[in-house]
This record gives sequence, structure tokens and C-alpha cells, in this order.
Amino acid sequence: AEEMMIRSEKMSVAGQLAAGIAHEIRNPLTSLKGFLQLLQAGVNRKEEYYKIMIDEIEKMENITSELLFISKPLTDNKESENVQELIEDVVTLFKPQAKLKNINLIWEKSGEQKIFCDRSQIKQVLINIIKNAIEAMNDTGDLKINVLTSEYNVLIDIIDEGPGIPEEVIHKLGEPFFTTKESGTGLGLMITTQILERHSGKLEILQNEEKGSTFRVILPEAAAK
Ligand code: ADP
Ligand code: MG
Repeated sequence: AEEMMIRSEKMSVAGQLAAGIAHEIRNPLTSLKGFLQLLQAGVNRKEEYYKIMIDEIEKMENITSELLFISKPLTDNKESENVQELIEDVVTLFKPQAKLKNINLIWEKSGEQKIFCDRSQIKQVLINIIKNAIEAMNDTGDLKINVLTSEYNVLIDIIDEGPGIPEEVIHKLGEPFFTTKESGTGLGLMITTQILERHSGKLEILQNEEKGSTFRVILPEAAAK
């Protein structure tokens, strides 16, 4: 019965995805067609139209590359990994972007927490959350990453000073294609939750007392050898 339930849940996600994809791809296509027709008719705002068309194509590119990630076969390649090393790799990746936006990326290597995971998938989780945090913050502010251990879990907190998340929106995060961004795909958090499920982990979203929000990744700690 349990297997059945899992399967039917997957079906509905697939159905939701298919509807979403159709919608998300059709809008840019319609717009592309319209601008091509204008160009065909010989208008003179060519440069402006080219720019819009490239933006629309980029949006479709983003969606397709995220979908390719989802449709990858579920070949988990799990090993015991050092959490701090994974974070270090991802922090390095984001340093230039954070600097550009005057955001202080605050993280100090502390401890030797181990998790049993697919390295690239957990990095993807951190990338998705940190990318959102940076996007949520206007110029300047602190973006902190803290690692804690609690009972048998490793907790990775990503704490931003963005606007926070409105109460009425919080339950929609992780729904395919839910986005509040002009050119967002609304797939990042869905992929994130799926990866965490595959690792017996989960994502908690907390409102900060001062400002912004905290995305807490919870994963079982690997037994020390
Ligand atoms: P996308 O980033 O393409 O919009 P995501 O699934 O990554 O898709 O995020 C969905 C939505 O969740 C975002 O559009 C945004 O409204 C909200 N969100 C995610 N992270 C944060 C954050 N750190 N602060 C405020 N809102 C956030
Ligand atoms: Mg995102």
C-alpha cells in the first residue's frame, strides 16, 4: 500500500509538471511569434525586439535545464562526505556574485560533520537556497551559513536579510513553477525538496526575528567510523 501511495503521488507531480511546462513554454513562444511577425512586417524597433526575444529564449533555456536535472535517472552515488567541504565548494562558487551585490557571505569552517550523500545533489541543494537568498537581498546585508548538530542530524542554516516570506505564500514554496520573480522558474525549491527526500532529510523555512528568513536543511548525520 505504501508503494502505491508513493507512486500515485509521483503521478500527480508529473501531471502538475506537464501542465506547468506547457504553460511556461507557451508564453515565451507566443511572445516570440509575435515579435517575429513584427520584424517580418518590417518595423524599426528591431534592437528592442531582439532583446526581448533573447530574454524569452533565455527563460525557456532556464526551464529546460532545470527540467533536465529533474528527469535525470535517480542514480544516487552516495558516500560519506564532510559537510564543511561541500559548503566550502559552494561558498567559493558564490563569492564573486555576493561581492558584486555587496553581500557579506559569512561562514566559518567549524567541525567535521559527516553526511552520507550524493555530493553533487547536496551541492545543488545548497546552490538553490543560497542563490535564492542572494536574489532576495538588495545591495548589502549579511548572508550567514551556520552548521549545527542536533541529536542524529546535521542542520545547515542559510540565513538571509531579505524581505522574508509572506505568510500566505510560505506553503506554496516548492510547488512546481511557483515564483514571485520576473524571470524565475519556480523549480529550485521543488528540486531541493526532492533531493532532500532522497536523503531522508528535509527543509524547514523559518522567519527571522529581525529580518529575512532562514532555510534550514536537515540531514541525518553519518555514523563516525
Ligand atoms: P525561483 O527562484 O525560480 O523563483 P524557487 O523555487 O527557487 O524558484 O523559489 C520560489 C519562490 O520562493 C521565489 O520566487 C521566492 O518568492 C521565494 N523565496 C525563496 N527563497 C527566498 C528567500 N530567501 N527570501 C524570500 N523569498 C524566497
Ligand atoms: Mg530559485
